[in-house]
Amino acid sequence: QHHRWQAPDNAVFDPSLLSYTDGKLRLMAELRQGIEQNQLMLYVQPQIELKQRRLLAFEVLVRWQHPRLGLLAPEDFLETAEELGVIYSLTEWVLQHAIASLAALKADFPTMKLAVNLSSKDLLQDELVDYLHTLLHEHEVKPANLVLELTERALTDDPVQAITMLQRLKNLGVELALDDFGTGFSSLFYLRQLPISHVKIDCSFINDLHKSDTHVAIAGAIIDIARNLGLGVVAEGIEEELVEQKLLRMGCTRGQGFYYSRPFELAGIQPWLRQWQQSSGPAAQLSPE
Ligand code: C2E
Ligand code: MG
Ligand code: MG
Ligand code: MG
Repeated sequence: QHHRWQAPDNAVFDPSLLSYTDGKLRLMAELRQGIEQNQLMLYVQPQIELKQRRLLAFEVLVRWQHPRLGLLAPEDFLETAEELGVIYSLTEWVLQHAIASLAALKADFPTMKLAVNLSSKDLLQDELVDYLHTLLHEHEVKPANLVLELTERALTDDPVQAITMLQRLKNLGVELALDDFGTGFSSLFYLRQLPISHVKIDCSFINDLHKSDTHVAIAGAIIDIARNLGLGVVAEGIEEELVEQKLLRMGCTRGQGFYYSRPFELAGIQPWLRQWQQSSGPAAQLSPE
């Protein structure tokens, strides 16, 4: 069986819980149970190399099929899960299922990558590294097929611990990306020290790029900084062709967004891939890079 890496429940009463509404506590009790009962679902969204329209990877996005409330998005439960420590079980579930999927797909799509989001809290758990190593090994999945996405928030609490953890994860052979870039504060200082291969520009700067000079300036600055540091850049939230064209002129090479595909159920990935290969011709082959 898998070695579990989540923090042991400790019985010390946390007074900050007094400020939680019953609703939040109940939701988290339901989430713990929901994880055990496989109520979580994984969606995926393709990441595209813009110029040639090649497929680079899929980002994995969690959803929760709540028995009473229906399909919940991360914004409905993630923050509370982080605050109340349920995030560790959630991350564990997501990693298990993402890596099992990579194993199931590797015969047909050996270069396909999945990108999994980690919470900043996850980096405080040293056991994550061994856990991940064991999972990859057990499923015989190459670490290079897994990307981990982290946000700047991971650096604000304990940057030294975070950078050490990132280095240890990098040493496993997985690829690291910095998500939601531009929305936090710490990264310009730490960016050079991070063992990441690319940064992702937050949706909020990209959605309306064709209408906002301010966002063009910000996205342009991020692209220039990343390129000067030898990092790749992914624009998130591309919804229109005009935005794609603008990004290409600004030197951004990769993107994600509703313009290419909305996130869809992981179970549909195989037919999606076959359809993509057929409709887009040889240029749509999975890119090894
Ligand atoms: P993110 O990692 O920045 O993911 C991108 C979000 O932008 C996703 O929202 C995606 O559905 C949305 N998006 C993609 N293309 C477009 C577009 O063209 N326009 C717009 N307006 N939005 C677009 P989602 O799935 O609701 O996830 C929200 C956030 O929740 C993610 O942001 C990530 O930070 C977090 N998250 C998702 N899954 C996980 C997970 O398994 N673990 C952890 N720790 N966090 C997760
Ligand atoms: Mg992400
Ligand atoms: Mg993002
Ligand atoms: Mg986000």
